[in-house]
Amino acid sequence: MLRHTAREQAARIFPGFIEKYPSAGALASADKQELTEMLRPLGLVNSRAAIFLEVAAELARAPSFPSTLPELLGLPGVGLYTASTVLCIAFGQSVPMIDVNSERVIGRVFGPGNTQDFFRSANVDVRELNLALLDFAHYVCRAKKPLCESCLINPYCLFYRNLKRNEP
Ligand code: SF4
Repeated sequence: MLRHTAREQAARIFPGFIEKYPSAGALASADKQELTEMLRPLGLVNSRAAIFLEVAAELARAPSFPSTLPELLGLPGVGLYTASTVLCIAFGQSVPMIDVNSERVIGRVFGPGNTQDFFRSANVDVRELNLALLDFAHYVCRAKKPLCESCLINPYCLFYRNLKRNEP
């Protein structure tokens, strides 16, 4: 639901969605037109509905919910970020959730290309770190107009130091 979609939009339809389709089996046998209407506020509606039905059918056939990276990546429409998120959030595994937002934050603070090193060297609960990065990227280190002046880590941030250096 979150692919190319703001979290607020997905949050609005999620409760009704999960009530109507409480299991993979229920979703797999959904009426495509009804599902399409429910997903309409999220955009990309035809491809999204088709992927939902495909994934649900695979999950309904599987003996248990996929719990490894290769299994998850084998599902239709599931890429590395989605698979990592399921492993981290649903299965509690210490897997970095790296997407454009976490890359942006880490790249600004430490410079581009440092994301993998950042996660490797972080001596904290990776699940907590993933969630903190999601919120930090959404509320503070936003893609447009980051809140640098009130940001608590601006003394340690490369982007901010460069910003200050280039000020007239
Ligand atoms: S100082 Fe600005 S660029 Fe650096 S982490 Fe904070 S909000 Fe992001």
